[in-house]
Amino acid sequence: MKIHFLGAAQTVTGSQHLILVNGRRVLLECGLFQGKRREAFERNRNLPFDAASIDVLVLSHAHIDHSGNIPNLVRNGFRGTIYSTFATRDLCSAMLRDSAHIQEQDVAYVNKKRARKEQPPVEPIYTTDDAIASLEHFVSVGYNRPVPIAPGVRCTFLDAGHILGSALVFLEIEESDHEQTRVLFSGDLGRDDMPILRDPTPAPEADILIIESTYGDRLHKMHEEAEKKLRRLIGETCSDGGKVVIPSFAVGRTQELVYSLHRLANTGLLPDVPIFVDSPLAVNVTEVFRLHPECYDEDVRDFMNHSHHSDPFGFERLRYIRSVEASKALNDLQGPAVIISASGMCEAGRVQHHLKHAITDPRNAVLIVSWQAPYTLGRRLVEQQPVVKIFGEEFPLRARVETINGYSAHADRNGLLGWAGPIARGLRHAFVVHGDPAPAAALADGLRQLGAPNVAVPEQGDVFQV
Ligand SMILES: [Zn+2]
Repeated sequence: MKIHFLGAAQTVTGSQHLILVNGRRVLLECGLFQGKRREAFERNRNLPFDAASIDVLVLSHAHIDHSGNIPNLVRNGFRGTIYSTFATRDLCSAMLRDSAHIQEQDVAYVNKKRARKEQPPVEPIYTTDDAIASLEHFVSVGYNRPVPIAPGVRCTFLDAGHILGSALVFLEIEESDHEQTRVLFSGDLGRDDMPILRDPTPAPEADILIIESTYGDRLHKMHEEAEKKLRRLIGETCSDGGKVVIPSFAVGRTQELVYSLHRLANTGLLPDVPIFVDSPLAVNVTEVFRLHPECYDEDVRDFMNHSHHSDPFGFERLRYIRSVEASKALNDLQGPAVIISASGMCEAGRVQHHLKHAITDPRNAVLIVSWQAPYTLGRRLVEQQPVVKIFGEEFPLRARVETINGYSAHADRNGLLGWAGPIARGLRHAFVVHGDPAPAAALADGLRQLGAPNVAVPEQGDVFQV
């Protein structure tokens, strides 16, 4: 058996790991690489393998850096099956179409520029039609239900506690004249005690571990501290008459914020200001959350049992906004308010309009609730650059920018090592992926100290015989 590391190797985006076994090609994840526009475009368009040669795709969860290049895979000739949980498939239905829309818009913008230089137009990486076509390839499987996905390969999804539907991928592989090999892929590992979702499933014993390392060298703030800070910042900003803009990923983070605000509102701990979720994707995704109570933890189930707040994702002063007109109307809104809008790194979507209107006024606040990749508008805000460019125009940054770290959906160093620790000594190999070089190396050291043999941090394109 061989494993090719083709993406998310010493970086956090573009997850793609290819397993070659029994003459078949099993791809784990087909993520979109996010970064500088031109580099991202080239890397995403040119898949590092022949799409038609891939037999099976196993998808751990719906985040775009894990799923976002699936429509391109299908556009390029993939004919196999995509295995995922039910919630992952439903989230992909909303997210891949949204991603296609972004690809189409991006290319329209680039082509306008190219036309002025009399250059021929370029094609989007994929279109909405490609995204819809890719949905036909999904076969959904519940947690803890082993299914054969290729000759000699059995796959079981275990709850990863990271986002709705997220899974650890456990592969039991029989090769002729070999003993069984068990491959455990963490996908993205969640955290204990996070709202809405269950805790990650303990790691089953395995021979080969492929583990993410996003926060392999860091510890998170506790979630309660995050909620306290959220409450304090909304209180302070709104009492000054300012608005709070929260750029948020439409999936997971937005629902978590809404659920937090709902609970704070119920206990009277929130100023009485209107709250808007302005993102058509977030609205669609929240519908998917409502469809999958089988993924909720005990807390949400209890919350739902109290009849008058049976919907964890809806309450009186919260409004979900889908239409462009209603979104634009928010620009003229007087007085304090909270606006949650996508995208999470401020690179696309409506949040850019809200930021454009908000950041020049010192009464307002921008709350950053997730990690911001280099070269993104979100990162420039975190760095408190005095002037930032939005839609090609420069704006002075006068609003307060605050970061809340406790909302991460990823396990931190202790979470990752605590999860992998019990199985570390029994491994044959461990591969550390999905992390920048420093956290990946730090996690690899941690695994070695726990007794894991043959720990590697693969580079892009590395192949291992295991
Ligand atoms: Zn993720």
